[in-house]
Amino acid sequence: MKDLQLGALQISRVQEGENPLPLSMALNGVTRQDLIRLQRWYRDPFLRDDPVEAGLLLSIHSFVLRIDGLTILIDSCNGNHKQRSLAFVHMLETDYLARLARAGCHVNDIDIVMCTHLHADHVGWNTRLDNGRWVPTFPNARYLFGRVDYEFFSQQTHEEFHREAYQDSVLPVIEAGRAELIENDAIVHREIGDGLWLESAAGHSPGNLCIHAERGRGHAIFSGDCFHHPIQLIRPDLPFFADASSADAVAVRKRLMETYADTSAVFFPAHFAGATAGRVFRDGDAFRYGYL
Ligand SMILES: [Zn+2]
Repeated sequence: MKDLQLGALQISRVQEGENPLPLSMALNGVTRQDLIRLQRWYRDPFLRDDPVEAGLLLSIHSFVLRIDGLTILIDSCNGNHKQRSLAFVHMLETDYLARLARAGCHVNDIDIVMCTHLHADHVGWNTRLDNGRWVPTFPNARYLFGRVDYEFFSQQTHEEFHREAYQDSVLPVIEAGRAELIENDAIVHREIGDGLWLESAAGHSPGNLCIHAERGRGHAIFSGDCFHHPIQLIRPDLPFFADASSADAVAVRKRLMETYADTSAVFFPAHFAGATAGRVFRDGDAFRYGYL
């Protein structure tokens, strides 16, 4: 994704990595016709016509949003040196912080860290290892965590992979006094007009959020994991394997597209590969994505 200026918003993507998942595992029920329809406006090296052979390429990235002089990091990927029970994210050593620097951000420059939800691939760089202790990576930042997800994940009753992430990437920020718990309809920042606010999008996780930013005729929607792959614009109705509540996640996908299709709002999904950002358009009985 290239850096974008939307009205008075500036948005960059900082990628940590990319992973393909088997389509048949992640999103069972996609047909050959769906895949052919998708290829009219989307292609990647793992996409096939045959649902048994097709893969879903997922990017892992953060967004850096600049609004009214604030620098905001949205979702913080997997992080380095984290012990994880999933092999492909265990003990990563990526150059994420160098990539962040290339986007013009030193760790000291981040004013606010926001997580759309508290899954492992959205909280990892909240902390870094310092002499054997997990400390906040961004020393000057307020970290904003949704209260509903915080209360759910602090119970430690969910998958091991996310329990591990809570312990090393959420709890140390709370203990360092850098975290604020926010409600799922909170207004985070507002000087004049619209600013930065949340929309509840529960389903993928119990407290899943969309983050809206609007200033100077630019409207960005950081939709987190409401969508993982563009095929979900054609088949929003199918359960995605990582959604906590399939029915709620399906309803959120449909609601977002019905509300924002054919408007100026630009989506910034947390896992779309390639150009990532785009607008949603109605397309017959489904929707399509117009990449910026
Ligand atoms: Zn995710």
